[in-house]
Amino acid sequence: MPIDPVCGMEVSEDTGLKVEYGGKVYYFCSPGCKAEFEANPKKYAGTEGMGHSHRSRHGHHRGHRMGGCHH
Ligand SMILES: [Zn+2]
Repeated sequence: MPIDPVCGMEVSEDTGLKVEYGGKVYYFCSPGCKAEFEANPKKYAGTEGMGHSHRSRHGHHRGHRMGGCHH
């Protein structure tokens, strides 16, 4: 299953929502994600599975007690 690079979910190849960019074909779950990719292809191309909830993994722990991170 291809991954929608915008939202990171698995999508079916037969939705017809695909864009060819940089020699690769990207598939999308919805016209909105396709439009988002087309508006910003450099942001999403080649970063499958990234750019979602992975950034600042520990940044949200501020406010909890220190040293309590068991990720
Ligand atoms: Zn999507």
